[in-house]
Amino acid sequence: MAARTGQCLCGKVAFSAKLPGAAYGVCHCKMCQRWTGSALFAITVPEEDITFTGKHEIRRFQSSGWAERAWCGTCGAGLWYRVTEAGPHYGGYEIPIGLFDDAGGLEIQHEIFVDCKPDSFGLVGDHPRLNQAETLQRLGLTED
Ligand SMILES: [Zn+2]
Ligand SMILES: [Zn+2]
Repeated sequence: MAARTGQCLCGKVAFSAKLPGAAYGVCHCKMCQRWTGSALFAITVPEEDITFTGKHEIRRFQSSGWAERAWCGTCGAGLWYRVTEAGPHYGGYEIPIGLFDDAGGLEIQHEIFVDCKPDSFGLVGDHPRLNQAETLQRLGLTED
């Protein structure tokens, strides 16, 4: 798949990413709701397939013991969610699809944490919708 470009709202942070495919995920967990204001619509890009410019503008927040979230220090646009802990999910950047100049042709692969989602909106399509227990099981985590 050809490289796609994207940027934050002010343009100080920009990137070029080689997408592994068209499929992306939607996360309705409470942390993603608070971070995005709605839900996180993001596509996984391997670390070696994305390059950023304006890196000095990037701010990071360790949002849990295993992951960080990054944003532009000038405009506040969310840039990525990324697992920082070693393990099977380490390394990829979850890039919000709205940052791409052209997000055309991308398709929802699954929604996760659907039982945390407000009932006032729903997404069309026939993709899997995993509740919290199913999501944690798929990620190899246990509920605590
Ligand atoms: Zn910005
Ligand atoms: Zn989430």
